[in-house]
Amino acid sequence: MKSDLIAAIEAGGTKFNCAVGTGPDDIRMRTRIETTDPTETLREVFAFLDQASKQVGRFSAIGVGSFGPVDLNRGSDTYGYITTTPKPGWKYTDLLGSLGEIFHVPVGFDTDVNAAALGEYTWGHGRACEPLIYITVGTGIGGGVLINGKPLHGALHPEIGHLLIPAIMSDAPEPDGICPYHGSCLEGLISGPAIAARWGFPADTFAPDHACWGEFSTLMALGLSNLILTLSPQRIILGGGVMHQYHLFPMIREEVQRLLNGYIQTRELIEDIESYITSPGLGDDSGLLGAMALGIQAQQ
Ligand code: ADP
Ligand code: ZN
Repeated sequence: MKSDLIAAIEAGGTKFNCAVGTGPDDIRMRTRIETTDPTETLREVFAFLDQASKQVGRFSAIGVGSFGPVDLNRGSDTYGYITTTPKPGWKYTDLLGSLGEIFHVPVGFDTDVNAAALGEYTWGHGRACEPLIYITVGTGIGGGVLINGKPLHGALHPEIGHLLIPAIMSDAPEPDGICPYHGSCLEGLISGPAIAARWGFPADTFAPDHACWGEFSTLMALGLSNLILTLSPQRIILGGGVMHQYHLFPMIREEVQRLLNGYIQTRELIEDIESYITSPGLGDDSGLLGAMALGIQAQQ
């Protein structure tokens, strides 16, 4: 087992989480940097890496999991860039830039959610699950997919957060979704800000029996059922701030079973749905530790 130090960067729209260590039980140093403009944020990230290498020792690889969309195609001129993001100031940002050159180490790179899936696959609730899907529900919604333990890329990479969901009959004061591209997609309807915009108050203020959670479970279950039918995952892990509402898990599971209506007869769905649709084993660190796992892979 390799135990070289790895630097991990989870690049998020609100904050960058950075750490140096070897795994979940051995994080030697970590920090949280607010996401402002690319120059300032990346300067702080570089400063942390520099300080960490002096304080805890030189790291032998860097792993980066980033919000996107990102260019994952190594042959492309914009490999390592955040590309068409609507986030102000971050369109076509060269994220990897000179990271590897400055620190003279290999750099692994993927989406934040592919990284989170890899973190869960390596150390969390996704071990040996082929395929594995990880979805985060927070400021946005994103989903990563691992097939045979490898992040699925493809023409771009999965954009599960933008699955198109019909704005079904809703009791929400504002029934339409808020995605600037699609209006009513998963992210436009049930991300944290979407719940706040559509139901009138921040998502964390609603009681567990509020109607917004019934709607949330129905819409999330629609998305998950389509993913189950398409990719046949062996497990789906749901993380992110909104999924701290743990009462949602049984509601979503029940709705998935209702929608699939006995058509898919797998042990996972029928006998063990508690493990099938589940929370992250690494808590809120799936993405950061996933970035560490990307760094470990980049070494090999
Ligand atoms: P980010 O997606 O920015 O990385 P989070 O995953 O914490 O960060 O998501 C933030 C969003 O999740 C906000 O819209 C917030 O209102 C919502 N949120 C955070 N905690 C909770 C909670 N316990 N219950 C419901 N919504 C929450
Ligand atoms: Zn959308």
